[in-house]
Amino acid sequence: KIEYGTNVILIDEERGKRHMTKLREGLRFTTQYGFIEHDEIVKILDGGIITASKGVRYRVLKPTYIDYIMNIKRRAQIIYPKDTAAMLMEGDVYPGLNVLEAGVGQGALSIAILRALGGKGTLTSYELREDFAGDAARFIAEFYGEAPNHDIQVRNIYESIDGEYDRVLLDLPEPWQVVPHLEKGLRQGGLLVCYLPTILQVKSCVDALREAGYYDEISSFELIKRPWKVDGRSVRPEMWTFNHSAFLITCRKVEK
Ligand code: SAM
Repeated sequence: KIEYGTNVILIDEERGKRHMTKLREGLRFTTQYGFIEHDEIVKILDGGIITASKGVRYRVLKPTYIDYIMNIKRRAQIIYPKDTAAMLMEGDVYPGLNVLEAGVGQGALSIAILRALGGKGTLTSYELREDFAGDAARFIAEFYGEAPNHDIQVRNIYESIDGEYDRVLLDLPEPWQVVPHLEKGLRQGGLLVCYLPTILQVKSCVDALREAGYYDEISSFELIKRPWKVDGRSVRPEMWTFNHSAFLITCRKVEK
């Protein structure tokens, strides 16, 4: 069942349009096909069908991580799920690790890290802007729930890092400014992952990592998701697709 206070995805069977709405007692979801009472939606099981007042059927779904991230109002640029998946896998994030992340933005990556940690280990998140940190904390509480192993700090990672981490994941404009602080902030054998929209940022960051002299396996790449249309005999890549999100850099800290 999908409960009051949580979000639901409603997909109309006419046009296949997806809507995300938060369920509240006594409220109505209004659409061009009439309305649906929230009090009726809570009676439907995940994956079930509900009919709007003008007779159009809607699929009722509990939002997945991707639904949630792609349907929220954006304030900061979020990380696309294909890249989030790669950051967790290439960064080898698993339960029990102590992970540092900066910046937090809207907290999309924070949620993915917390899920990968599975309640074991810790996530420390540095964010420059107090308003973003507050919004992200609310967003994380809404989708992920209580996270006693998560600490969001309003601070500038370009100035310093407190403590030593197993993994550092960076999504901010100048990660090369963080490299000097990783001398103490990332443990030997630990992994660093950076997410960067432009290739000149990649160059500056890789140059700084090489200059530091204690990073091995420095790898820069991008991931392209190319959807295909599969419709009868028409089987081909979609004509219009989202092309570029960002580049990733991964590397491992080793003895100098
Ligand atoms: N990864 C985030 C997500 O999944 O929602 C999006 C991060 S957003 C692109 C970049 C964030 O980094 C912004 O919120 C910005 O305020 C923060 N930021 C920029 N420079 C920073 C710094 N020096 N220290 C900490 N946070 C910083």
